[in-house]
Amino acid sequence: MEKLTSPVTVSRLLARHQIRLKKKWGQNFLVDENIVNKIVETAGIDEGDTVLEIGPGIGALTAALAQRAKKVLAVEIDGRLIGVLKDTLAEYVNVEVINADALDLEYRELLAGSSPVRLVANLPYNAATPLLYRWLKDKEPLFCALVCMVQKEVAQRITAAPGGRDYGGLSVVCQYAARVRLHFTVPRTVFFPRPEVTSAVVSLVPHPQRRLEPALETLFFKIVEAAFSQRRKTLKNTLENAFPNLKGGLVRAAQAAGIDLSRRGEALAAAEFANLARVIYNILDSN
Ligand code: SAM
Repeated sequence: MEKLTSPVTVSRLLARHQIRLKKKWGQNFLVDENIVNKIVETAGIDEGDTVLEIGPGIGALTAALAQRAKKVLAVEIDGRLIGVLKDTLAEYVNVEVINADALDLEYRELLAGSSPVRLVANLPYNAATPLLYRWLKDKEPLFCALVCMVQKEVAQRITAAPGGRDYGGLSVVCQYAARVRLHFTVPRTVFFPRPEVTSAVVSLVPHPQRRLEPALETLFFKIVEAAFSQRRKTLKNTLENAFPNLKGGLVRAAQAAGIDLSRRGEALAAAEFANLARVIYNILDSN
């Protein structure tokens, strides 16, 4: 088999299958074996693990994952690449390729009966943030860990501390649901074709137990969304708009949670948002 992490192989495979790459699907393929190996190392795969990969492309990362994991489920949106993957992954009997849009999948159904499941992917740029929101907002962790390559700016948002420019809804949701870490950045030069941006590999290890029960969690997500919908406004403004029924209760809630309403959402840590959700829930419940 040709070396999948070579730009010559990628060009040849694409020409053989008459494929012109599409920007909207973020089709920039890794052509550096070291980076592929570094991602696999970072993922810490055990031999009993099932790995879910989103966007296998021509299969460079998939092949490396298949050598470590019990099983690899690889979800690819581009039907034209399915034929390529049949060739490039022919020797790996533990790989199942699924032709689907990752944004439309029912993950609990797909992963039923497989455990533990690790998500390892070089995520397509456009789908990365909505996918992370979906996975992490699910009421119970879908994966024992997620190791993914995303645009560097997205990695910085995921791992940002409160107070900074990068800190926002994505930071709060990720840090509420998981322990997050930015491992290393990846230059444009290791992709074919070269993207316009630098990438980075992050890991998210979901907390086994959520801090809030499901009803409270729904409220927590609503509060976070409201707090960051208008970043320059104070919590008093954004929360009064989002929860008109609370009226004077908002001031009481903030006092009980020890939060100054003249602060902005960007100053609050995930745990503070969780406290606020608890007290607002009680007040709404007793109204
Ligand atoms: N894993 C390969 C690699 O590292 O070289 C390819 C990664 S490339 C950045 C992203 C891949 O995701 C492409 O193969 C693209 O067709 C696929 N893709 C884009 N949007 C998708 C979606 N919504 N669902 C599933 N696959 C998607």
